[in-house]
Formats: sequence, structure tokens, C-alpha cells
Amino acid sequence: MLRLDLLHPVISGNKWYKLKYNIEEAIRENKKTLLSFGGAYSNHLHAMAYAGKQFGLKTIGIIRGEAVINETLTDCKEWGMDLHFISRSQYKNKTEENFWSEIQTSFPGAYLIPEGGNNDLGIKGCKEILQTIDIAKYDIITCAVGTAATYTGLIEASLSSQSLLGFLAIKSGEYLRHEIENKTSKRNWDLITDFHFGGFAKKNLALLSFMEDFKTTQSIPLDFIYNGKMMYGLFEMIAQGSTFDSKKILVVHTGGLQGNRSLI
Ligand SMILES: *Cc1c(COP(=O)(O)O)cnc(C)c1O
Repeated sequence: MLRLDLLHPVISGNKWYKLKYNIEEAIRENKKTLLSFGGAYSNHLHAMAYAGKQFGLKTIGIIRGEAVINETLTDCKEWGMDLHFISRSQYKNKTEENFWSEIQTSFPGAYLIPEGGNNDLGIKGCKEILQTIDIAKYDIITCAVGTAATYTGLIEASLSSQSLLGFLAIKSGEYLRHEIENKTSKRNWDLITDFHFGGFAKKNLALLSFMEDFKTTQSIPLDFIYNGKMMYGLFEMIAQGSTFDSKKILVVHTGGLQGNRSLI
């Protein structure tokens, strides 16, 4: 397991890789403010708030849904992030051009980062995730998938002889196949669609008790939104007889443990 959860005490996991070239670009463009989007427990906004503070940049978070306060958003505020709540229906338009330009007009001069840090600079950063280890030792690489920016970076960095399995953390994520195909010419990958547990951030007792067992037996904490589902799925596939016989699997732990604070 590649433990990106141990990368940094706050900016855990894949989010740093997605932010680094965006922050570099914001500074190059002489921008003073980073703006991005997310849910109320967003790992991405949490990481961006902290990173912004470290780099002396203001941060603005556009949050999906009615105004709330929780541990994640309290951290974000403490690190200086301005929080703006918008309705779920407005939020749905966030990839549309006029929404984008409205945001740009409302927050002039801000450097806009898409939800989850999913842009070409985000993917560029994620190509570096595997640089810290000797990947040639592994036959299979697995990772959790949200926007697929991280997964696309891993695919790009992989050897053609390897195969990659991306476990969808969302329901109806089939469209991501296209998006990934548009960003990479490599075809040594697949999406596993069976372990989203009903949709993004949905959970059940089987998942939570699997995570509990995993923590006890492996001493490795997992988050329930991404890595818990991936690990559950991988174990399930092995149990159901998918042949990984004598294959060496590299599991990428993308972090995100702060999100477990939404579990009550
Ligand atoms: C955001 C996130 C992901 C998904 O990454 P994408 O690049 O959006 O696919 C996976 N794991 C964790 C812990 C995350 O926070």
C-alpha cells in the first residue's frame, strides 16, 4: 500500500498532488486568491484552505447546500477560507460556462480550480504520485475514483505491462470512462463500478465493520468515502475468485481521513 494518508498531517493524500501545479500557476499569474468548490466535508477544500494559508494566498470555498458548520468547515475558516453556500441546484451547473463566468465576475481576480482539483494541472501533479516508489515490482495498481483526476495521473505514470483498477466511489460514474479515454491514450485500465454502496458518501454497516476490522488487523485507517470502498471491493473480488494469483498489487491509499468526522 502506498500510504498517501501519511504525506502530511493536514494536506493528506492525493489532494496535494492535484493542488501543487495549480498553486504554482496561480502564483505565476500573480493571483492572490484561490477559489474552488466542494461539499461540506470536502477533502479538497480542506486541503486548499490549509495550502492557501501556507502559500500566503486567500481562499474562497463555494459549498454545496444550505449553510452549515462542521469540523471540516471550522478548520477551513480557521485557516482563513471565505465560505459561500449555494443551493444544490445552482451547484449542479458548476461546470457550465455561464456559471463559471458568473463566479469569475463575482470574485474578480480569483484563480478558479474545479471541484476536486480536477483539471489538467491536477492530473499533471498526480502523474508524480508513483515517483516515490519502484513501480516495476507491481502487476496491478488500484485506486479509488471520484473525478478520476488521480486515476488518470496514475494511468499515465504506469507501465503498459501493468493493469489498473479504479474503484468508483460514485453511482453512475460510467461517463468517466470517456473522460479518462480523452486524457490518456493508455488502455491498460478498467473501472470497477460495483462498490459505491449506493452513491457518493453512502455507507452501510458492512462497509463500516469492514473498515473497523481492517484497522484492527492491519493498523491502517481507511476513510469511508473512498478507500474503505476500494479496499472492501478488492477483498470482495479476491473472495469471489477474481484471479490475482501470484500478482503483486499496489494499493494507493489516497488519504481523506478527515472526512470520517462526518460519521456520527
Ligand atoms: C478526492 C479524493 C479521491 C478522488 O480523487 P479524484 O482525483 O477526484 O478521482 C480519492 N480519495 C480521497 C481520499 C479523496 O479525497
